[in-house]
Amino acid sequence: METTASNQAAETSFDAEAVRAEFPALTPGPGERGCAFLDNAATTQKPRAVLDALERAYVESYGAIGRGVYRWSAEATQHYEQARARVARFLGGAADEVVFVRGTTEAINLVAASWGGSRLRPGDEILVSGLEHHSNLVPWQLAAEATGARLAVAPIDERGEIELGEIERRLAAGKVRLVAVAHVSNALGTVVPVAEIATLAHAAGARLLVDGAQSVPHLPVDVAALGCDFFAFSGHKVYGPSGIGALWARRELLEAMPPWQGGGGMIREVGFERTTFADPPQRFEAGTPAGPEARALATALDWLERLGREAVAAHEAALLELARQRLAEVPGVRLVGSARRRASVVSFVLDGAHAHDVGTVLDAAGVAVRVGHHCAQPVMARFGVPATVRASFAAYSTAAEVEALARAVLRARALLVR
Ligand code: PLP
Repeated sequence: METTASNQAAETSFDAEAVRAEFPALTPGPGERGCAFLDNAATTQKPRAVLDALERAYVESYGAIGRGVYRWSAEATQHYEQARARVARFLGGAADEVVFVRGTTEAINLVAASWGGSRLRPGDEILVSGLEHHSNLVPWQLAAEATGARLAVAPIDERGEIELGEIERRLAAGKVRLVAVAHVSNALGTVVPVAEIATLAHAAGARLLVDGAQSVPHLPVDVAALGCDFFAFSGHKVYGPSGIGALWARRELLEAMPPWQGGGGMIREVGFERTTFADPPQRFEAGTPAGPEARALATALDWLERLGREAVAAHEAALLELARQRLAEVPGVRLVGSARRRASVVSFVLDGAHAHDVGTVLDAAGVAVRVGHHCAQPVMARFGVPATVRASFAAYSTAAEVEALARAVLRARALLVR
């Protein structure tokens, strides 16, 4: 029998239905219609284990982190530091190289303000790619404006892959101080060869920042193997709570970086004349830390590793290929992006219909997708479209959801295309 993407998905031993049963939001109550939640690149639903961890953190030992001598505060601090060590293990780094932040956006702004603000000089270049989310673009524009550096862009080709030759060419001019690229594109799903880019960047004396918002949930990640200097991700995209994420950075870089925000928790000694600062990572964590959220993020990472990151990646890859196949069968559907390595995301347009209208019809059919520019307007401009419909998969996604998506797109075509 010919092996189709559909029966490949069915044949993997991965039990997505069992995974799904761990997510209260995905379990419809009696008489309720379930939702095919295919907006996982924007954010993910939370398993019971994470919800329980969050509740335990607020109920069993909630107190200020690093501030108190009472038991709850001491326990909360211990959990927070254990969560830091957990994130470090997940990424393949050391605990004192992990800074807790609100998410990827804040992590990149931290690097742009602190490293960029202290290192960039007029005439220096920050090299980004044509694939970037606005979060890995606008902070560099702000840093360039503040320092007199300039932004350079490595374009993407018609597949949606970064042109590595262009990166090499830019680096050869000797002005690039930092390359900042996504590991996986949120708009197209392109997997970027960051290890190769790290080698190129380092050979030219530049640093590499990797925006890992879309890779951490879908691919095994090891910062040492990637060879990057900074790596950022968001907890809410990897089954964890909102408001927490992490920046990993090489210790020697963090040690040389000035604070970017001032306040409690990041100082050694404060006087009116002079303040001295704590060592990293506390130097970059001004204000009361998000203790319960950090603890629940650690639980999310435990949960994902128990499933197996390779197994999740294989499951999602099978669903992605099934979705590309089913969508391509719908007359008038044009897939946007055809990178040779891709993860989790399929973007498409339906000729003759606006993406927002398609999204509305899909919603009425119980299929939740993202429509719009996906905070990646330069990607839309590259493909000459104002917006796409984007479906993105997670560990709990199923082949039945992919089929529901394809049926709903057919219905959208019948309703919207004259
Ligand atoms: N980078 C990429 C590639 C993303 O997909 C996102 C969110 O969609 C971000 C950065 C920003 O993440 P957050 O909003 O969690 O800070």
